[in-house]
Amino acid sequence: MATTDRAIASAEAHSAHNYHPLPVVIASADGAWMTDVEGRRYLDMLAGYSALNFGHGNRRLIDAAKAQLERVTLTSRAFHHDRFADFCTQLAELCGMEMVLPMNTGAEAVETAVKTARKWGYRTKGVPDGTAKIIVAADNFHGRTTTIISFSTDEEARADYGPYTPGFEIVPYGDLAALDAAMTDNTVAVLLEPIQGEAGVLVPPPGYLAGVRELTRARNVLFIADEIQSGLGRTGKTFALEHEGVVPDMYVLGKALGGGVVPVSAVVSSAEILGVFRPGEHGSTFGGNPLACAVALEVIAMLRTGEYQQRAAELGDHLHHELGLMTTGGAVETVRGRGLWAGVDISPSYGTGREISEKLMDRGVLVKDTHGSTIRIAPPLVISKEDLDWGLEQLRAVLTR
Ligand SMILES: *Cc1c(COP(=O)(O)O)cnc(C)c1O
Repeated sequence: MATTDRAIASAEAHSAHNYHPLPVVIASADGAWMTDVEGRRYLDMLAGYSALNFGHGNRRLIDAAKAQLERVTLTSRAFHHDRFADFCTQLAELCGMEMVLPMNTGAEAVETAVKTARKWGYRTKGVPDGTAKIIVAADNFHGRTTTIISFSTDEEARADYGPYTPGFEIVPYGDLAALDAAMTDNTVAVLLEPIQGEAGVLVPPPGYLAGVRELTRARNVLFIADEIQSGLGRTGKTFALEHEGVVPDMYVLGKALGGGVVPVSAVVSSAEILGVFRPGEHGSTFGGNPLACAVALEVIAMLRTGEYQQRAAELGDHLHHELGLMTTGGAVETVRGRGLWAGVDISPSYGTGREISEKLMDRGVLVKDTHGSTIRIAPPLVISKEDLDWGLEQLRAVLTR
């Protein structure tokens, strides 16, 4: 315990307290398991908020990264490099789109989507300069930049960061009539998570996303899908929107695109929409770098096999079946989600989400709470059924009294 306590005390003294991590200090990890500095093992049921869909230390990803590390890691976009074209071509193909604009973090990709939509609005749609509006949903999570938190409804994420960026309109999630009413001739885009992750894995009502697609098409408004957390296999499909048979105008991707190895994000769209950019109008020193492209190319190749999506679908059915059984006991109030992704509302009489998470940690399972008494479960897609069952057994034990 001494090593753990020292590491935590030191982190608390010298790092800003913008996080409140569980008191565990990880030293190594493999697949769905992490080992702390004292040698204790934990089942990772968070998977870096889905950045680790393919598990820790995935051989294919580590080998791809190592090989690229020995060749060239960074060129900047001032020059071409030999992994760039393949990355863009194959990612566009995976998405059924034409063009890619690579960035690094999710928030940067969302910023890129916002800039793209505004520029498209002025250059292509003909919206009067400076008046473009983007509609977003309440309880969204799209990242942490000043512009993005300007359209957050989460006071914790937003307070004391003003003045806020204008040009956004917030409507209730899942409410088509409200969306319709909010649209004007100056609306350039609707930006949504197909499933709201940070809000507690909220799945919108059936038909909502298809309705958004119809409304946006009818009003010549871009449908931007933030699939940073929901995309790339998590829900049992490559994209969560596929469950509704919906194709957006723009995908925003991140997290798992970098395989948990490096930050890789991208906006993927049509040539007409991403074609609005001219040299110098947007960019990033690290966006689309050779190391990022090499890792992401491996991620794309793995997703093309379909096996991770299938695993997520099959194990996800099992996960939701088991969690559903827990609702009969009263300790679990509601379970939401899709595929290997669940938001679980625990009866507050059993403790806060944080307290439940701490008890699970003591039993060797790592999850993250969100909003009150909700915990979310999102293990790496490579988790074995036996390990998943063991993790669920620990949850059952924590909720037994
Ligand atoms: C995590 C996340 C982001 C932000 O990604 P960062 O890499 O943390 O900047 C944006 N949108 C959604 C839906 C996310 O889950």
